[in-house]
Amino acid sequence: MKKIAILGSTGSIGTQTLEVARTNQDLEITALAAGNRIELLEAQMREFHPSLVAVWSEEKAKELRLRTSDLDVRIVAGMEGLLEVAEQPESEILVTAIVGMIGIRPTIAAMKAGKDIALANKETLVTAGHIIMPLAEERGVRILPVDSEHSAIFQCLNGENRRELHKILLTASGGPFRGKKKEELKAVKVEDALKHPNWSMGQKITIDSATLVNKGLEMMEARWLFGVEPENIQIVVQPKSIIHSMVEFVDGAVMAQLGTPDMKLPIQYALYYPSRRYLPGERLDFRQLMQITFEQPDMENFPGLRLAFEAAAVGGSLPTVYNAANERAVALFLDRRIRFLDIPELIENCMERHTVIENPSVEEILQTEQEVYQMIDKLELK
Ligand code: NDP
Ligand code: MG
Repeated sequence: MKKIAILGSTGSIGTQTLEVARTNQDLEITALAAGNRIELLEAQMREFHPSLVAVWSEEKAKELRLRTSDLDVRIVAGMEGLLEVAEQPESEILVTAIVGMIGIRPTIAAMKAGKDIALANKETLVTAGHIIMPLAEERGVRILPVDSEHSAIFQCLNGENRRELHKILLTASGGPFRGKKKEELKAVKVEDALKHPNWSMGQKITIDSATLVNKGLEMMEARWLFGVEPENIQIVVQPKSIIHSMVEFVDGAVMAQLGTPDMKLPIQYALYYPSRRYLPGERLDFRQLMQITFEQPDMENFPGLRLAFEAAAVGGSLPTVYNAANERAVALFLDRRIRFLDIPELIENCMERHTVIENPSVEEILQTEQEVYQMIDKLELK
């Protein structure tokens, strides 16, 4: 039995992780954590019987305790609750399927407690990669990528000498607005931005895919996971998301991982690495698939991607500013308080105003996050 704890069990990655657990009898769910959706969380508790559950608000935790008083489970709340789930003694692997920088502290706590990490929560690596990667080495724990592109790269590198890796070719669908110009992007509605052509995901990452900020975050995620400089990470637009990413070695050989767009594959690969298991579902059919096309990314009309390369080149606390500004801007856009093109503009404004801290500690990262939120509150009031 492999014992698994999940942060963000009610979300897109969380529910798909539980689907994988449902079809594999040797995976045991020992702890779950979620935010607001306690009805779904209750159903998950009744099906998977975790011994520990965390809910963000104390009020919801109380309500859940009442609803599940017939179950043998401990229910905790707040950041303390997330940390308890992360450190739970009986679990072996933590799936970080929570969204945003809130994942930093629990991820670090789990690693210190000796857990392997199945990492979906890219915001943690983007902002604290310089802390997470050395910590993994020091504690002898594995960071197993769940993000489909990073899982693809990880699969391509299996059995290879990492020093012979020359370049990462990170594929991008281009999102729902591929080919559009700034003029046309001005009037984009929340509903349009929430329609991703290939993947069904949580709201925040779906907006990030529309602005191409997601690809920027993934470039920084790849940088830390695979120890490659940003200038050796090339974004390749491949609109149908059939190639999940590629690597180029020093001799010029390129390896790619292909498949249908189904997050259960990278989730299952992370949970069973280095083994592969049967996965039900659609397969690529090369009798139907006539072509795979490529394009250059458009950094002019989608400045969110350009800004990511700028943040990565400077490093220090600037990727935190990029990420925190984006988190807040996306929330404001979903709330219909700002327009689509205001998202990269707010990110750029915050990056310009920030004085970079080299090698920031976790406290400095979280402090920078708060400063960025205050900056945006002021900018938004104008
Ligand atoms: P969702 O929005 O679908 O889910 C987020 C999860 O986090 C929910 O379970 C939510 O709980 C929980 N959560 C949010 N805030 C808190 C909190 N304060 N305390 C406890 N739990 C909280 O996101 P996704 O599943 O789409 O994405 C999760 C992460 O994975 C992100 O970092 C994303 O970038 C990454 N990722 C996602 C992919 C995808 O296909 N979805 C692909 C690659 C990476 P609740 O809903 O109950 O409030
Ligand atoms: Mg991805």
